[in-house]
Amino acid sequence: MTDSFYFDNTGGVVTLRCRALDSAGFGRHCFTTRIGGISTGHLAYTNLSFSREDKNTVYENYRRVFDAVGIKPTAVLSNQQHTDIVAQVTEPESSENFTPVETADAGTGLRFFVSRTAADGLVTDRSGICLVTFVADCVPIIIADPVRRAAACVHSGWRSTALGIGDAAVRKMQACFGSRPEDLIAAVGPCIGPCCYEVGSDVYDAFAARSELMRGFFAPAHGGKYMLDMGAANRFVLISAGLRPENIHVSGQCTCHNSELYYSHRATKGKRGNMAAMIQI
Ligand SMILES: [Zn+2]
Repeated sequence: MTDSFYFDNTGGVVTLRCRALDSAGFGRHCFTTRIGGISTGHLAYTNLSFSREDKNTVYENYRRVFDAVGIKPTAVLSNQQHTDIVAQVTEPESSENFTPVETADAGTGLRFFVSRTAADGLVTDRSGICLVTFVADCVPIIIADPVRRAAACVHSGWRSTALGIGDAAVRKMQACFGSRPEDLIAAVGPCIGPCCYEVGSDVYDAFAARSELMRGFFAPAHGGKYMLDMGAANRFVLISAGLRPENIHVSGQCTCHNSELYYSHRATKGKRGNMAAMIQI
C-alpha cells in the first residue's frame, strides 16, 4: 500500500483513509473494510447494503462507521447501474430525485436517502450531506475540491471505467461548483488488483474504444484473457480529466487478495456484503 493511505481503528471499526484528503480539510471520509460491524455469516461484519440483509443490522453498521469517522450526516446513497451518470445532491428531503430509506431507529437522527434513478456517482457542496457509494471489487473513488469546498463519491466498475465516470464526475464538479481540475484531490480506494482481475476481450475492446492508450492497462494472460489494472485505468481517466498526477492517490490494495479484510465479489463468487466509500464535507 502506498503511504498516502493508512488504516484507522476507532472503536474496533477499521477504515482506510487518505492523508491527502485529511490534509486538505476533508478528514470526514473513509473506505470501509469488513471489520467493526455486527453482520454475520458471509456478510460478516460490516455490510452496508440495505438490500442484502435486515435493515436494523445495516443501520447499526452505519452508526458504528459514522461514529468512527466522526460524522453525523444525512446520508445519500448511489443507485448503481454501471453507468457514467453522476448526480448532484442538494436537499434530498425536498427533491424528487431522492427517496428516503426506511430505518427502524430514527432516534439517533441519522437519515438515509437513495437516488431514485441510476447514479454511479454523487457530488455535493452541502456540509450536512454524506455521499456513499458501494463496492466489492469495483473501484471506489473520492474526489475533493479544497477551493470550492465540494466533493464527489464514485463507483467505477469496468463498464463505468470504460465510460470514463471519473471524467464525468470532474465535469459535474466543474458544472455545479466551478471546480478547476487542477485543484482536485482524488483517492482511489481498494479494488480488485491486476494480480487477480482476469477479463476477456469484451472488456479489452470496451477500454480500447475509449482510448488506444487504455490498452496499456491490460497484460496478456492464459487462453486469450487479460489481467486488468483497474486502479491505474481510473488514475488515467482522472489525469485525462485534468487532475494533476501528484493529486491522485491510488491505494494499491487488492480486495480479492485480502478477502478477510475486504468483501470481494470474485473471491466469494458473489456471496458477500458491500463496503462503502463515503465523504462528508
Ligand atoms: Zn490480487
